Amino acid sequence: MIDKLSKYGPSIFSTMTGLALQHGALNLAQGFPDFPTDPKLITCVDLAMKDGYNQYSRPMGAVNLHKQIETLVFNNYGREVNGDEELTVYPGASFAIYLAMQALISAGDEVIIFEPAYECYAPAIEIVGGKVIPLQLESPNFDIDWHEVRKAFSSKTKMIVINNPHNPTAKVWSKEDLDALEELVSGTNCFILSDEVYEFINYTPTGHISIHSRPEMIERSIVVSSFGKSLHVTGWRIGYCIAPQNVTDLMRKVNQFSVFCTNHSIQMGVASYLENHFDPQILNSDYKAKRDFVKAGLKDSNWEVLDCEGTYFMMLDYSSISDLPSIEFTRKLVFEKGIATIPCSPFYSNGYDPKIARICFAKKEETLQKAIDILCKI
Ligand code: GLN
Repeated sequence: MIDKLSKYGPSIFSTMTGLALQHGALNLAQGFPDFPTDPKLITCVDLAMKDGYNQYSRPMGAVNLHKQIETLVFNNYGREVNGDEELTVYPGASFAIYLAMQALISAGDEVIIFEPAYECYAPAIEIVGGKVIPLQLESPNFDIDWHEVRKAFSSKTKMIVINNPHNPTAKVWSKEDLDALEELVSGTNCFILSDEVYEFINYTPTGHISIHSRPEMIERSIVVSSFGKSLHVTGWRIGYCIAPQNVTDLMRKVNQFSVFCTNHSIQMGVASYLENHFDPQILNSDYKAKRDFVKAGLKDSNWEVLDCEGTYFMMLDYSSISDLPSIEFTRKLVFEKGIATIPCSPFYSNGYDPKIARICFAKKEETLQKAIDILCKI
């Protein structure tokens, strides 16, 4: 038997959550909210179940949800999406990313990713025989060196994966970065996979610049979004993807023969919630308040809080506390200090190990206060 993913072990997110549970530590590791789900959302799904939406939906996604997503994308980015041709609802954004690789990448194709990179990109590329070309972003600014990107780019580059706002660095792509990307790929056959699952969690004055708002890029882009992130329900596994029709057709084919469709009652409940209750601005300001709370709480601590422009993650530099590699250091934090975080090195394929622990601040104020109290004593 061949293990096609032999170089990968268990996910760092589940590993750290497992350790937190085992040792009764405060879990700021894996990115998920610990506050209750909006009761209105639960009611919407409950009603959808009672209304009988308990069988398969269309593989492309329920009509009602399609309508709501089209409205959401138009209202936020001014893009008119033709849902029948371009939009598909999937069981989670990670699955959409996996399908995009299944559909578009063949053996020998090169895919550029920026490291630190979210853990699902490289395995999804490698399992179909694609070659990952990692470009390293360095602490503390994690700026993209466009000279390096141009050097890495060739006729073999089938795709560039971007993640904006970015997990784990909490950086946001500037207009200049998007301009540089557009210039690089224009006139080529290269696809852009834009992971925008944190699109509504952006604290910059400019706000989120989506690929949806860049007409020149739309024709080559697969844009992935997540209700798990935007509605605080990561365990529901529901996301969506907007891509050109020919790409959408291929991805839907793989989807049809794997999961077929996404949970129907959840789709219908989410559709009715989006129509009646969802406000991205509230989402954004709630997370901004949490970010500011943690930042203020750690101001006089030994941790250096790196810039947090988006997402619900924050990078904490511990170089004035310890020289230990980040995996070892974060394990010690669980065992000795009762707090779980995520080390930075697993997001790099080459062992680069800035002295950084990532925390998730999608937590109740009480949890955040406990975390601040622990971190300030270290
Ligand atoms: N996106 C989450 C994070 O970055 C983890 C998701 C998962 O565990 N698969 O922490």
